[in-house]
This record gives sequence, structure tokens and C-alpha cells, in this order.
Amino acid sequence: MTGQTHRFQVGDFTCIAICDEGVPDTIQGLYANVSADDLASAARSLGYDIDSFPMSCTPLFVDTGTQRVLIDAGRPQLEAGGDGYLLRGLDAAGIALDSIDVVMLTHGHGDHIGGLTDANGRHYYANARYLMWKAEWDYWTDEATLAQLDTKRAAVRRASFGAMADRVELLTTEGEIAPGIRCVPMLGHTPGHCGVLIESRGERLLDIVDAIHTPMQMQHPDWHCRFDVAPAVAVETRRAVFAQAAADNLLTLGFHLPFPSLGHVVADGAAWRWQPLA
Ligand SMILES: [Zn+2]
Repeated sequence: MTGQTHRFQVGDFTCIAICDEGVPDTIQGLYANVSADDLASAARSLGYDIDSFPMSCTPLFVDTGTQRVLIDAGRPQLEAGGDGYLLRGLDAAGIALDSIDVVMLTHGHGDHIGGLTDANGRHYYANARYLMWKAEWDYWTDEATLAQLDTKRAAVRRASFGAMADRVELLTTEGEIAPGIRCVPMLGHTPGHCGVLIESRGERLLDIVDAIHTPMQMQHPDWHCRFDVAPAVAVETRRAVFAQAAADNLLTLGFHLPFPSLGHVVADGAAWRWQPLA
């Protein structure tokens, strides 16, 4: 099975959303402050079963014409014991890995940085600059953070961040990471979690990454994922991001939303709802 891809344009930019996830997943227990019954009924109202929820992992490739940018490196790829869907998807789309100029790492979770290198630490994107928000880097390279993880996870983090150390550039101000592509801090899921705003010829795409994990969270922005490091901040961020996406009618991508993970956020009473791309 190859990585599913969805190719689309944002103005002059060619974008490809790539599915780096193979199987439907249960989302039971995904939210720390939601009962199983509430989660199941909210899912059902949108036509989903929580035991076979089509959770995706959707890195985004953008070709501006002068720069090739990959937003997140996905899960560990084939040579590192994973499924390899992202690399297969890029290959199927005819994108040579060494042609990628920038890899924006939105945050330090394994489904976003795990696919940067193979099991031997060899970098797949040989010519790319890596970008990450500085507070994110500082958090995951702090031994106090790693002390809260089990030994295996801490070791994986140490190896991943160690491999990135000599090529990562740390961001401290919101702004362009390539012409037409802006890094936008969306804090809370992790201390330096960032979204990305892509704009060309007046068309825009807002990648909100892990500010949200399922469409049910549009109706319930106060639901927080158990991986949210700062839940109260994440709720505030979610509300602000949804409000902006709805007000500006922005094409929006959520990394874990059902593939191709694209659609619009629509105001709905005191909250919002997800209108997936048809
Ligand atoms: Zn994630």
C-alpha cells in the first residue's frame, strides 16, 4: 500500500497532502476531560464510530516554484520500523527527497519528527534545513521533560533531537520560513507548537496541525487531547484559530483529521463545525 496523496493548488503553489497513516484507529481515551459516552455520541452525530475512526497523519508538501517545503516528517518510516507511507507518497508524486529545501517541524511529537531519519540516523532529506520553534526545542531537550517519559520514549526523543541538533534552525519570531509560507505559533498542544499559513495570489491555506485532533473538537473546543501539554492554553489557541479560520473562510488542514484533512471551519452557534472538502 502506498501513501495516499491529494494534490491541490493554493494560488501558484502546488500542494500535496500525504497520508502517513494506514489503519483506522480507536480514539477511545484520546480526550482527557471527556467521558466515553460523550465522545461516542459526538462522533456518532458526525457519522463516525469511535472504534474505527479514520484518524490520519497528514504531512503537507508545498512547492512554491522556488522552494520545496515539507511540513512535518511524519512517523518513523520503513527503514526505522514504520509503514513508510510518507516516503512512498512523495515517491508516487515524483518528489525526490533531496529536492526538499525546508522541513518545518511543527512540534516534537513522534508522529511529526519520527520520519526524519532512518534507524541509523541517516537523514532522508539530505539537503533540507530543519526549522522548529525555539521553545519547543528547549522543552524536549530539557532533561526535566524527558524524566517524565518512560525510558524507551525518553531514549527515542534523545536520539531524534540529537540527530537534528546540527542542522535545525530555531525560530523565535512569527514570520516567513519561505516566500509565501509563514510559521504561526499555536501554543498549548506543546510549548512551541506551530501552525503554518500558506498564501499565493490571494489564496490561503491554514495548517493548524495538532491544534485539533478530531472534527468533534470544533463543536467542543474545550475538549483537550491527553497529549496537550498546556490544556488551558490549547483551548484558548483553538478558539482563536477556529474564529480566524471561520471569519476569513480559510481553507484549513488539520494533521489528524480524516484524510485529506482539508476543509473549512464554519461558525455554528457558540462553537464551530468542520466542513470537509467534498
Ligand atoms: Zn500529532
